[in-house]
Amino acid sequence: MPDVIRRPALYVVATPIGNLADITLRALDTLRSVDLIAAEDTRVTSRLLAHFSIDKPVLALHQHNERKATSRLIGALKDGHAIALVSDAGTPVVSDPGANVVAMVRAEGFPIIPIPGPSALAAAWSVAGLTDPGFLFKGFLPARSGERRKVLQALSALPYALVFYEAPHRVVDAVRDLAQVLGAQREAVVARELTKLFESVHACPLGELEAWLEADENRRRGEFVLIVAGAAEQAPERAVGENALRLLLEELPPAQAARLASRLSGVSRSDLYELAVRLKDTA
Ligand code: SAM
Repeated sequence: MPDVIRRPALYVVATPIGNLADITLRALDTLRSVDLIAAEDTRVTSRLLAHFSIDKPVLALHQHNERKATSRLIGALKDGHAIALVSDAGTPVVSDPGANVVAMVRAEGFPIIPIPGPSALAAAWSVAGLTDPGFLFKGFLPARSGERRKVLQALSALPYALVFYEAPHRVVDAVRDLAQVLGAQREAVVARELTKLFESVHACPLGELEAWLEADENRRRGEFVLIVAGAAEQAPERAVGENALRLLLEELPPAQAARLASRLSGVSRSDLYELAVRLKDTA
């Protein structure tokens, strides 16, 4: 039974991430029933609409015109219209534009209704096979290695799996930084081209992932979700040692910092020295 479309309202509609058959019945009903569709890229959305024989006005709403386009949407809502917001693929707002639109429409007091469906994040996590108690979705990491390593450093002690989106031209560099900052032993999953012809999901220790990607150029093509298992729970003395080491490294060279942190915590000096060198390298 199709929903009765509410007017005025903003519908946030998920669309396929590859396989068009993944569109939901509610998404189709909604796109057929609204008065206007706000789209990240009108050409991409027009192709989707044409595939399902949907003929609706489409308004461009992307990060460069978000404020102006949202004012138009709010005008249309004030005129009593129902509007759908879509992105190029997957769920709007998930590493896609839309958060400001939702906030501004909410501030005006209009109903905002999610039409859930595909997202690369949920699809990848569902087949990752990691048993962490939860995950942190980071989306895209910074493009530059220095900034990327800083972000990873801040995430490195979390006991949750980390989920990243990555572009094909950066995937090898990103994987190298992931292994160096988070450690080669962690389990990693690379989910590529989900729901598409060349879909693949590969799991291996993080330290082996760069070589796996380099072994075949097809493995570096397409769209990627990278997932890395969270930090293993640490013995209390290890946590004391690592915290002390991080502080000492701000003032001292690695060997001295490792020696003092080892005396404070009882963790072996060589272990802490190895970590100190890694931390200095990624600083
Ligand atoms: N809103 C989308 C969602 O819900 O997943 C994500 C949009 S974001 C701009 C695009 C990124 O999502 C890609 O660079 C890739 O990292 C990931 N992605 C999208 N489709 C994918 C697919 N079919 N397989 C793997 N990753 C995908």
